[in-house]
Amino acid sequence: MTTYIFGHTIPDTDSIVGSISLSYLKNQLGEDCIPTRQGEPNPETAWILNKFGFEAPELKTSYAGENVYLIDFMESSQSPDDIEEANILGIVDHHKLGDLKTNAPLEMWVRPVGCSNTIVKEMFDHYNVEIPKNLAGMMMCAILSDTVIFKSPTCTKADTKACKELAQIAGIEDYKALGMEMFIVKSNVLNATPRELVLRDFKDFNMNGNKIGVGQLEVVDLSVFDTMKEDLFAAMKALKEEGGRHTVLLLLTDIMQEGSQLLVLSDEPEKIENAFDVKLAEDQVWLKGVMSRKKQIIPFLEKQF
Ligand code: MN
Ligand code: MN
Repeated sequence: MTTYIFGHTIPDTDSIVGSISLSYLKNQLGEDCIPTRQGEPNPETAWILNKFGFEAPELKTSYAGENVYLIDFMESSQSPDDIEEANILGIVDHHKLGDLKTNAPLEMWVRPVGCSNTIVKEMFDHYNVEIPKNLAGMMMCAILSDTVIFKSPTCTKADTKACKELAQIAGIEDYKALGMEMFIVKSNVLNATPRELVLRDFKDFNMNGNKIGVGQLEVVDLSVFDTMKEDLFAAMKALKEEGGRHTVLLLLTDIMQEGSQLLVLSDEPEKIENAFDVKLAEDQVWLKGVMSRKKQIIPFLEKQF
């Protein structure tokens, strides 16, 4: 029976590349696996797939009765609607322990590193399977993306080591320059609607019964948003109302200045102020040094709920 391997809803590069890299490894090990995705690849991911000559995995959003392997998530809020009817064989992830349940024992490759593809690289090493050149290039880009070229506080020695080894396999000398090129592609926000931008990298979390949506846009220069703030707030407001969300946050992360402008729409804005020990002005605040939603935003919000 085929196993479908996929990442979270609103997939990012780590989710898409991880579904491909993990499927390749498992196929080499004699397991019949197909990479799938739960949504459209973002512009950064599309650029990477094109650069290394890969097709996007097929779109599949329903998995009832199927064998599945999850990569880069383990939260029901980031899963297909019928995940409870799927048979979860395993998880490769680098997030906090989620709320998914299984009715059979499963494989878990979960570690607090900067990228799921770092774990996949270690799995290749563990099973002594060679990584094809172009696949290595994509996995390297996934690590550079998730760790913001090693600047994110989530980045570990395991990530830099895996990235360097993958660069060598891919024959890429200046991988940091390639990472910068990738982030410049990511910074092109001018041909997307405000709603598309808020949703480009958006995750919902269930915090004690409250639905909290947190989007993030990582750019090389925050000034691209100067004329857009009102429109972004309007898009956030619509998402808050439609989804019955308690809070919608948008992190505008400047990867050069290494900090984030946090845009806030909340039923209880004081909870957000308390979480980060700040005062909001015009529903926003600059959070110096904050680059990681996973490590520097979500844990502090959860304490407030
Ligand atoms: Mn991800
Ligand atoms: Mn990831």
